[in-house]
Amino acid sequence: CGIVGYIGNKNSADVVLYGLKKLEYRGYDSAGIAVVGESGNLDIRHAVGKILFLEDNLRDAPLKGFLGIGHTRWATHGEPCLKNAHPQVDCTSSIAVVHNGIIENYLELKENLLSKGHIFKSDTDTEVIAHLIEDYQKTYKDTFTSFLKALNDLRGVFAIALINSKEPDKIFAARQFAPLILGRGKGENFLASDIPAILKYTKNVYIMKDGEVAIISKDEISIFDMAGHRIKPSFFEVKWNE
Ligand code: GLU
Repeated sequence: CGIVGYIGNKNSADVVLYGLKKLEYRGYDSAGIAVVGESGNLDIRHAVGKILFLEDNLRDAPLKGFLGIGHTRWATHGEPCLKNAHPQVDCTSSIAVVHNGIIENYLELKENLLSKGHIFKSDTDTEVIAHLIEDYQKTYKDTFTSFLKALNDLRGVFAIALINSKEPDKIFAARQFAPLILGRGKGENFLASDIPAILKYTKNVYIMKDGEVAIISKDEISIFDMAGHRIKPSFFEVKWNE
């Protein structure tokens, strides 16, 4: 299972797909990529089974956009099938979430969201994250504040990356007991579960710590704790080659 994200001037789906292939060794049963497309809406491709099948889908129906996130899934909640593949979305299909790990209290959160009228399309624990952020956005408007609120409701293990088509210049990410690294480029930035996914593009890396949240735009990476206080990250140069 793995996560890759890209924002910059390249076609994001190409960078993300390349990274997902580099993370294949982690194991997976399905894969998917979401970008904010030229129309300004989310555009998503999923495939069950090999990344090769996702690649075939992309050849038939390419994704175009400058920010994107991708995922290889190792199912824990919900069988491996198309509707359970990540990215998972909220009711309005503006927020796309990829997640590695397990949200232990997802049933309780899901019941609460169902009672508020949210409609779920998958059997995953992950989908609650998208709906939770959507719900908090009714009060807090901006994605970051809503993401922080949602993170504070989650119990369990997670590495999360998300994009919101209403704020299409940022990727949001968080880590709690599952790996997530950030890569800094020139006018482009990256995130991934592991360094090999991005090494072709940059060697300037930061390994996120548990409890950290990131806002990644094309020219800047900002790190916070889950209360929203800023943290100064120390990036380092990876010495080895791809
Ligand atoms: N628990 C999530 C799911 O089953 C994420 C699994 C993973 O780490 O890939 O969809």
